[in-house]
Amino acid sequence: MSRPLRATIDLAALRHNYGVAKRAAPRSRVLAVVKANAYGHGLERAARALAATADGFALIEPEYAVRLRESGFEREILLLEGFFEAGELPQLAAANIATAVATEEQLRALEAYRGGALDAYLKINTGMNRLGFAPQRAKAALERLRACPGVRSITLMTHFATSDGPEGIDDAMQRFGSATAGVPFPKSLANSAAIFAHPQSHADTVRLGIALYGATPFSDRTAASLGVKPAMTLTSALIAVQDLEAGETIGYGATFRAAQPMRVGVVACGYADGYPRHAASGAPVLVDGVRSRTAGRVSMDLITVDLTPVPGAGVGTPVTLWGEGLPIDDVAGSAGTVGYELMCALAPRVRVVEAGA
Ligand SMILES: *Cc1c(COP(=O)(O)O)cnc(C)c1O
Repeated sequence: MSRPLRATIDLAALRHNYGVAKRAAPRSRVLAVVKANAYGHGLERAARALAATADGFALIEPEYAVRLRESGFEREILLLEGFFEAGELPQLAAANIATAVATEEQLRALEAYRGGALDAYLKINTGMNRLGFAPQRAKAALERLRACPGVRSITLMTHFATSDGPEGIDDAMQRFGSATAGVPFPKSLANSAAIFAHPQSHADTVRLGIALYGATPFSDRTAASLGVKPAMTLTSALIAVQDLEAGETIGYGATFRAAQPMRVGVVACGYADGYPRHAASGAPVLVDGVRSRTAGRVSMDLITVDLTPVPGAGVGTPVTLWGEGLPIDDVAGSAGTVGYELMCALAPRVRVVEAGA
């Protein structure tokens, strides 16, 4: 007994996509980024799928990093933003969790810390201007970090602002290069976009996020062209059908008006499930495998779709909202956002099933 809506998480696709990235960055360690509940796919599930192959995991949430360690994973676990309070350091050290050091406050906390030692990633700001030390301050920060008794290894890190766009990373690479010239530490720079577009940034360790989940970081390169497969497929079914006369409208605000008589299907999925309310009427949807479009506003629990291209559709006909057969990036485009946001927003009420175990 349940709504027909479900998210199928394909563990084989996660493994496949990890392998694609590994081949794209063959000389680097590939950390699987599993922040935000593995981009909505389920942290425990993604970790289970990748535990045997991943060189390591990276995430944001310290409590989940510790839980991941307690689940038995023995390779690297990195906190991408580091710790949030000095009081977390002993527990992170005990669990062997590596930490980014991205602010003066974190550096001071490490200077004062006298517990078990941690691996540190010194984050250098190469243009994102959110976290990290300015390039001209990097060497001084590095010297202070080297002097910390609670730090046992150092990796130099940055995060690109424009690795997915036409601006590229030349400027950031130049800043990183000048900040770290002559410094003999391993480096970690690349996100998904840089893994695929900028091999000169691969260095020792890359951080694979969105492409692991089978979506693209680029606006002008599809996930399929990268060779990755969707790991999340959101499917539902028609629970009602309406025959409209010309001039009738659909949904809240009556924003869609039928130009001629038409059939519309009512899909059990809405914004309370994570489907974006701001998706424009006309967003792509698959009905019985046939590409159609939404009609009218997305409501909390329902979406209406044009059945013109699928005259045989009726109550019970399967619908794909995104995933296999319909790139999440296409749906995101219709909502003025990116695949990242849609997958992260998958709501807790959606039933999740696993495939490809
Ligand atoms: C989220 C994140 C990544 C992964 O980025 P993708 O674009 O999803 O590959 C890499 N590095 C840092 C610091 C991050 O926060």
